[in-house]
Amino acid sequence: MKTTLTLIKADIGSIGGHVRPSKESLAAITDYVSKSRWILDYRVFSIGDDIGILMTHTQGKDSPEVHKIAWDAFSFATTIAKEQGLYGAGQDLLKDAFSGNVKGMGPSVAEMEIEERANEPFIVFAADKCDAGAFNLPLYLGFADPMNCAGLLLSPKVSQGFKFTVMDVTYTEGDRVIELNAPDELYELAALIRDNDRFVIEGIYSRATGEQAVAVGTTRLHNIAGKYTGKDDPPMIVRTQSQFPATGEVLAPFKICHYVAGFMRGSHNGPLTPVRVGQGASFFDGPPIVCAQGFCVHNGKLTDGVDMFDSDPIWDSVRAKAAEKALGLREQGFSGPAMLGMNELEYTGVMEILAKLEPRFTVREDFKREEKQMEKILRAKVNDHE
Ligand code: MG
Repeated sequence: MKTTLTLIKADIGSIGGHVRPSKESLAAITDYVSKSRWILDYRVFSIGDDIGILMTHTQGKDSPEVHKIAWDAFSFATTIAKEQGLYGAGQDLLKDAFSGNVKGMGPSVAEMEIEERANEPFIVFAADKCDAGAFNLPLYLGFADPMNCAGLLLSPKVSQGFKFTVMDVTYTEGDRVIELNAPDELYELAALIRDNDRFVIEGIYSRATGEQAVAVGTTRLHNIAGKYTGKDDPPMIVRTQSQFPATGEVLAPFKICHYVAGFMRGSHNGPLTPVRVGQGASFFDGPPIVCAQGFCVHNGKLTDGVDMFDSDPIWDSVRAKAAEKALGLREQGFSGPAMLGMNELEYTGVMEILAKLEPRFTVREDFKREEKQMEKILRAKVNDHE
């Protein structure tokens, strides 16, 4: 049976700043989605200030009917968020009316249509306070590095490698993408995806069977809105086991807690911290966080979700390490790598400060004198030579 897995995520307002959505707005979305006739099953959850809706159906990718369910559910919950005076109520709904597809309207989407295997395990990831490139490193390690993914050595199907689709998310005229095969083009892949701000892994496909293993939401909110509206807070779906890496091989790279953009005002770097589903974010409006839920699906019906980063005490140790990393980097405030580079700050007030200061810069006279003398000497040398 062909089943479509659709994960749509948005921030429609939260309590106490950017911490977490209200129970009432979550309940409103659950209530709205449960009444839809288009979907087979669903789950509603939160991570940081975002709400995620996972839906199963048979309408395929980019279905206007299914996307409209999410859009209308978020719109309905926004009215409640506004009534409650939640901070940033409706902030990710960038357009006034639904136009057939939530892509480009604010919410981020990860979806794939699959031929269900006899047993179909998959993981739903949702990240907050970071952008889509935050998944680049974990996906590289999970699908292309035998030091992490033993399946690349031990499983004949996995060892045939994977095809990566990478998107240039700074290009706004359309979807600018490239396909690269691992392991053949491993260095080329690494050369692109080291740049999390620009090149984002959008999908991964088995080279043994052609089946899709990974779908990542690749929206860049500031490109849509024309100004800075927050970080993208990407969703991701990953199928595991058999022809794909094992669940453990996909989850393990999150032990690194690598530094990604999106901390405090979306303008600082911080460690991507694996947390429990429903976790809020209250340390410098962060740190960047990610949750993971494991499911199986059969004929479109979902099992209970397993909270992956709450299923083993080792993740508590990982969180302790992430906390050390977050504390360490935040101690240096705006200095150096703690704050993002100027290319990522172009929608912030710092640009106004720089513009205001620009006319006050002077070039010292003695330098100008030296420069003129140097010019004279060089000219004389040229004349001699002629
Ligand atoms: Mg968020």
